[in-house]
Amino acid sequence: MPVLGHAFVGLATAACVQPLDDKRRATALWVPSVVLLAYLPDIVSQLASTTGFVSARMASHSVIFAIPYGVLLGVALARLGTVQWTVGIVVAVVSVVGHILLDLLVASDRIPLWPIVLEPLGGGWAMLPRNGVGEILIFGFGYVVAVSIVRRRLTVLPGTVSRAGLGIVVCLFVAAGGTHWLRSVRFAAFVSAKESLAIGQHETALTQLDAAMLWPSINKESRADYMKAEANRQLGNTEIAELHYARAYAAEPDDFWIVADYALFRATHLEPCNDASSSLETLVDKLNRHFSHHPRFKDVLRKIDTRRNARSIP
Ligand SMILES: [Zn+2]
Repeated sequence: MPVLGHAFVGLATAACVQPLDDKRRATALWVPSVVLLAYLPDIVSQLASTTGFVSARMASHSVIFAIPYGVLLGVALARLGTVQWTVGIVVAVVSVVGHILLDLLVASDRIPLWPIVLEPLGGGWAMLPRNGVGEILIFGFGYVVAVSIVRRRLTVLPGTVSRAGLGIVVCLFVAAGGTHWLRSVRFAAFVSAKESLAIGQHETALTQLDAAMLWPSINKESRADYMKAEANRQLGNTEIAELHYARAYAAEPDDFWIVADYALFRATHLEPCNDASSSLETLVDKLNRHFSHHPRFKDVLRKIDTRRNARSIP
């Protein structure tokens, strides 16, 4: 997501909206409120991820939820910013929906029509820069162009931002920049963990994965679980490996390598299984039904048979 870009969009939106009349220019809280609105889906998403409320996280970036809660926020915004309530609603809905659309331009794992359509939208789009300098250049330029075009047509300009309002906006920018930097640190730790796992440094990989998943991580929990399962299996921690395989499989039951490695693990270590949904038979059945076209399918089945037979020999 364009973390700093959202702030520029919020600033531009606030600067380009016509206040109600000359006597009631936009209040001190107008600009910070609109900038905050531009970030709202991410704020809700972060709060939801720290509390484990997955549905709220999905809802925060769904257009279907954005419209009703945008209407409610728009009415509140109108009272804060001395604009007509219809203008407040339009600003709130456009801010939230605009945030979701901007995210779609840089990420491919969003589900903007959740819970009606559960498939992510976007085919790996990366149409906007994902680094701070690139975002400042692109969105800063967009801000200057939008404001210089639109403000010429306003009959009443929005009021100046008070010191308190300016302070809030600066804090929002600093928080956004800090979050941006921390995310890149988490991503780098995840990449390092992958490299450590590939060269057999399993304990190092586990430490790096823990660091990679700290707030505000952008790494997928199920990927981290899969990698932790692999590292713990190599280290002989079978019960911990089982726990992480089960979590990864629950989150991504259609990933070939998660199913294959979980089945290989079960064929070697933990049978019989109390949970029929992840027993070796169920996993092998899933491989047969869904992954027979995969280039490594036959190889994996052969290994599963070899390991199962090796265990059955007293
Ligand atoms: Zn977002």
